[in-house]
Amino acid sequence: MKAITVEPKKTGTAKLVDIPEPGLHEGSVLVQAIAVGVCGTDVEIVEGKYGWPPPGQQTLVLGHESLGRVIDPGPSSGLKRGDLVVGIVRRPDPVPCPNCAVGEWDMCRNGLYTERGIKEIHGFMSEYWRIEPEYAIKIDPTLGILGVLLEPSSVVAKALEQVSLIGRRSFWEPKTALITGAGPVGLLAALFAKLYGLDVHVLDRIVGGLKADLVRELGGTYHSGSVKDLDFEPDTILECTGVGQVISESVKKIGANGIVCLAGIGHGGATREGSVADVAASAVLRNNVIVGSVNANKRHWYRASQFLARADRKWLAKLITRIERPENFAHALQRKPDDIKVVIQFSEV
Ligand SMILES: [Zn+2]
Repeated sequence: MKAITVEPKKTGTAKLVDIPEPGLHEGSVLVQAIAVGVCGTDVEIVEGKYGWPPPGQQTLVLGHESLGRVIDPGPSSGLKRGDLVVGIVRRPDPVPCPNCAVGEWDMCRNGLYTERGIKEIHGFMSEYWRIEPEYAIKIDPTLGILGVLLEPSSVVAKALEQVSLIGRRSFWEPKTALITGAGPVGLLAALFAKLYGLDVHVLDRIVGGLKADLVRELGGTYHSGSVKDLDFEPDTILECTGVGQVISESVKKIGANGIVCLAGIGHGGATREGSVADVAASAVLRNNVIVGSVNANKRHWYRASQFLARADRKWLAKLITRIERPENFAHALQRKPDDIKVVIQFSEV
C-alpha cells in the first residue's frame, strides 16, 4: 500500500512509498484511509525539526489528523463495516504514570507517552491503517470528510473543559470569550464557544477575508488589531497563536476572575514591557488564572465528536480550504496565505 513516510530529524526525506499493509499487532480494527489533515507539527517533522520513528525503525508514517472507513471491525470493537472513524493520537506511557494509568494520557507526567504519526508509532497517512478498538472514535456519518476536523476539535474540547473546570472555583458567569489566532484551532474554538452560549470575539493579524467572514457567520466579532486595543475585558481568553506579545497583552487584558488558556506554542518573542513580577501582581490582584492546555484524552475526543455533529456542515466545510492527492503531499505541506486546513485525501467518502 502507499504511505507517506519520513526519516525523523532529517530534512528532505518525506516520500510516497510502498509499504506492507499493517499487521494485526497494530490493532484489531482495519480501516481504509479517507483523509488526513495537515498541521504545523507535520511541517516541522518534514523539516527535520521534530518526530521519532518506532523503536528499531528508520522511518515514520506521517499524519495524526485521521479519518477512515472501517473495513474489518475485528471481533470485539462494537464497530460495523463502513463506520466512519477517527484514531486517537496519543497512547499512555508504559510505566504508567498516575495520569496515564487512569486514562489521562493528555496529562502524562513523565513524557514517555507515544503519539501516532509523531512519536514512535506510525501515523495515518497510508491507504490502510489499523487501530485498537478503544482508540477509535466513531463519528456522525453525515459529517463525511468533515470528520477529519476531529483531532483539532479534541484539542479545543480539552481547552474549553479546562476553562470551565477552573471557572467553578468561584461564582463565575462568563459572557465574553476572546480567541487569539484564527487558524483551524482558533476557528473551531470560536464555533464551540458559541455552542457554549458565549459572546465570541476572534483576533487575528489578517485583515478581512475568509477568516473574518467565518467569524461573522457564527455571530461573532472579528478583530484584526492588537489585544491591548480591544475596548472590553474578556472573561476568558483562548490563546492559539503562541506569539509572545499576544500572550503578554492577553494576560493584561483579561477581566477580573478571568482565565487565560494558552493553547498555542511559540518560541522566544519576550516583550520588554511587563516583567514576570508585574504579570504575577496583576494575576494576584484580579484572581486571574493562566493555564496551559495540550492534547486531549478520550472524553475530550468524545465531546468534540458531539460538538462537530451539532455544527453547521456548510460552515465547517469552509475550514477545509484545500484538498490534495497523496502524490501531491509536498504541495499539501506548503503553507499558503489563505489556507485554513489542508487535507490529503486517500479515498472517496
Ligand atoms: Zn504518563
